[in-house]
Amino acid sequence: MGNNSLFKNIKEILEAASVCNRCILRFCGIKIYSDYIIKADIEKAIHQLIGQPSNTQTENEAGDHSSSNNCPASKRFLPNPCALCLGILQTACDEVILKLDDVVKKSQHKFHDFILQVSLPVVIDLRDRLFLMYLKEKLGESYSFRAENIPSVKDICKWVIGSQYGRLTNTDFTPNSDFQIFISSTYPDTVKECFPLFKKCPEVFPNARKRNSIAEDIYTKTAVLNAMEVVSSEIKKIYELPPSPIDSYSTFSEIKCTHSPLYLGGRYNKYSRELSQTPWILDGERKMESSVNELIVDIVQKRILADKIIFSASGREDVDVKMLGNGRPFVLEVINPRCLEWTSKEIKAIEDEINCNSNIIAVRDLQVISKMDTLILKEGEEKKRKSYIALCLVKKTLTSEDVTKLESLKDLKLEQKTPIRVLHRRTLATRERLLHSIQAKIIGEHLLELKLETQAGTYVKEFIHGDFGRTSPSLGTLLDTTADILELDVENIHLDWPPKS
Ligand SMILES: [Zn+2]
Repeated sequence: MGNNSLFKNIKEILEAASVCNRCILRFCGIKIYSDYIIKADIEKAIHQLIGQPSNTQTENEAGDHSSSNNCPASKRFLPNPCALCLGILQTACDEVILKLDDVVKKSQHKFHDFILQVSLPVVIDLRDRLFLMYLKEKLGESYSFRAENIPSVKDICKWVIGSQYGRLTNTDFTPNSDFQIFISSTYPDTVKECFPLFKKCPEVFPNARKRNSIAEDIYTKTAVLNAMEVVSSEIKKIYELPPSPIDSYSTFSEIKCTHSPLYLGGRYNKYSRELSQTPWILDGERKMESSVNELIVDIVQKRILADKIIFSASGREDVDVKMLGNGRPFVLEVINPRCLEWTSKEIKAIEDEINCNSNIIAVRDLQVISKMDTLILKEGEEKKRKSYIALCLVKKTLTSEDVTKLESLKDLKLEQKTPIRVLHRRTLATRERLLHSIQAKIIGEHLLELKLETQAGTYVKEFIHGDFGRTSPSLGTLLDTTADILELDVENIHLDWPPKS
């Protein structure tokens, strides 16, 4: 059999079984995606395959209704739904374009390119295999295509929607983009069509045993194709060949679009002893009016339209501890921002607004960073050094020998059991931390100001008052007295992050 007559046979067999033109082209193994987009090109490609000039052809009854672009849907003669793609490639992928445009416009996203994710009914995979069997049965040896030679409905669907939508909006449909469009479809007869497989081999459908699973969870593509393998010898007892025409179209029911997250990095100072880092809510009741988190995020949210903004910082200070010096590094993860491109001038304006809005916090170096930069912050959290200023009250009368003794200590190893004040939220353990250096200044008979440089994660308050012997050594044991802390400030966090803007 020559190639022309093979393709002619494929076309006739599939048309008789209510299969659309795009699906006919697929089952001829055509992988030139540009042939699939507009009706005229699809016809031309088919006519070339069967060796007939396209202008002598008249419209066919069964399948040739793939994309009547110039005709309003209401006035169009409605053909039978394609028994293969359930109407997805026949009309749905053309008709969804305007709806898609509407949804994306309403979402207010700004983008130059996009990727598409399409979710289709599993019945399409089922019928794809059945039609392949049917063609092999009808055409014997001469139909040598295997499943992998036939472009999938999903690939063609993405290509058709992507090309048309890209042309409409003057954007690029690419395999890689920060802007993702998801389109999902429904089909009312999934259970009816897949149940015969389930009946034959329920063990292939593990999700059927789970409570509350819906048809889409049970009849996954993997499960359905596995089941077809398992029952392959008896498949004709279960399904008719060709698969029967269908009654209902599959339609696109949901369109969603999202941008990848935007990351902002910066450092904050906190000048209040009555401000927590994150909202402090106990038993559903607010303990403090605001927080560092809210003072920053509330302003950013006004300027950057997004679903949500998540604040995280490199460690935290207590409510009554000030954060001075060059501040503490923090990250804002902006979820689904409507715009990903921000100039440094625009970000500076946000920083200025935060700083004008509050005198108990300040933000510096605010800038757009990469996801990679956020990982560096997390790594730094473990390794960085911190400097503190502590005002301490000591029972004994201080002498210059005490100062000399403290200042001679270098890299003093502290053993710290989990402090009583945080035991309710952390497990009991013993930490070893290094106290790198101490500078001491006597400012009263019993008042001592200490500048401490410590390893990340050191419980500084506990080093001063000893936490009932749970931290050892402590200021008290070192000076042979008892000590307590009056005020604590973080003076510096030694982590060069983010880059100075
Ligand atoms: Zn089709």
